[in-house]
Amino acid sequence: MKKAFVLMLLMVLAALLFAHARQRTQPKPLVFTHVTVIDATGAPAKPEMIVVITGDRITELGPTERVRVPKDAQVVDATGKFLIPGLWDMHVHWYGYDKAYLRLFTANGVTGVRVMWGAPIHFEWRKEIEEGTFLAPRMVIASTIVDGPKPIWPGSIGVANEAEARQAVIRLRRDGYDFIKVYSLLPREAYFAIADEAKKQGLPFAGHVPFWVSAGEASDAGQRSIEHLTGILAACSTREEELRKGFEDAFSNLPQGQRLPSPARTRPLSRMMLETFSVEKSAALFPRLKRNHTWQCPTLTVLRSGAFINDPNFRNDPRLKYMPTQLRTQWDPSTDFRFRERTAADFDLARLLYKKQVELVGMMHRAGVEFLAGTDVENPYCFPGFSLHDELVLLVEAGLTPMDALQAATLNPARFLGKETDIGTVEKGKIADLVLLEANPLEDIRNTQRINTVVIRGKLIPKAELEQMLATVEATANGK
Ligand SMILES: [Zn+2]
Repeated sequence: MKKAFVLMLLMVLAALLFAHARQRTQPKPLVFTHVTVIDATGAPAKPEMIVVITGDRITELGPTERVRVPKDAQVVDATGKFLIPGLWDMHVHWYGYDKAYLRLFTANGVTGVRVMWGAPIHFEWRKEIEEGTFLAPRMVIASTIVDGPKPIWPGSIGVANEAEARQAVIRLRRDGYDFIKVYSLLPREAYFAIADEAKKQGLPFAGHVPFWVSAGEASDAGQRSIEHLTGILAACSTREEELRKGFEDAFSNLPQGQRLPSPARTRPLSRMMLETFSVEKSAALFPRLKRNHTWQCPTLTVLRSGAFINDPNFRNDPRLKYMPTQLRTQWDPSTDFRFRERTAADFDLARLLYKKQVELVGMMHRAGVEFLAGTDVENPYCFPGFSLHDELVLLVEAGLTPMDALQAATLNPARFLGKETDIGTVEKGKIADLVLLEANPLEDIRNTQRINTVVIRGKLIPKAELEQMLATVEATANGK
């Protein structure tokens, strides 16, 4: 009798354990009902849909009358809400500060980032993120910046010639970086050696167009993306050669201890660039960028903050409360070496340049050039997560439709990264990186900021949890 009881108990226990194990391998499906899907393929919004997520994938998606809700599912009634793909910020930096701040991306529906200056710490973070022990965006990691022999930023790899350039590419590939980041002061010879060696090594290269190289040449050489519109305006000038020589000269003969030429030195060049803009030259360049699939990551967010940084509105941005104190100090224009010496006239000029750059984005977009949304997080007033939404607004102001802007942060990054079978749209079979919005972003792009729920790899993060994330980061930032 006693034995039979023990046996039965053991059997019940085994069954329970088995059921538990099954539950762990086959998680409860997550289902959004009555949701409007904006899949980011370019198709119009689809109302009254059901989206079924099993594990980390979208396993079923269709109109309410056609899709069956699995019995044991966790159902989210999304009546009146809009489902978009998880967003990507394609130009991000984050180094010396706590990784906890990366939650700002998650809390803002940013489920992927392209880190534009990689370091060993990013591989550690990526490992934790992919193992699921740390909830933060997916990461694509650039190499250490490769710049000329006297780099702008300490810590860059400086290369002076072809041999050094090739060595750098080989080493960075061995270190595991996803692509090579090229920078402004690379000599021509070194730049084209990087392009050639990167191709041989099967590694993309992207970044700034160096002053020594024309944007058209960079495009032909296979540079995958051009950041901050570097080289574009110069390449649209009737006096391009002269401009490049001018910048080259200004950067080659820097006074001891100076990383950038003084505004007095670059002022006439910037003016010339604006005054000699040629529609004909731009009409030759843009189709070339399109043909070569040279993506533009204009980072209007950082271009704007650079041009307007003396505007007190920036110092009063309420989102500063989420930033580490040290960064807040660094963002003060009076402490930044890039802005310290600017006069009021320099700021006027910087604003004219910014206005022209916004125009360029519109022109290139109309010419069929492809765009990526990026911000330059960690630079002044580029907030992790929040600023990606600023960038979408700026892209729409520049002439993209809300759908185009949305795609610049979803489908386009997926295409750019060759990951479109896994991410970038809301479609059956894709990884469930999703954002549920309270209002329609195709009506007003600002509605991407009205986030209700985020899903990362199929894991649901409801509003309360997103708010908790923000509160935790705020406490960290303020040393509480
Ligand atoms: Zn950057």
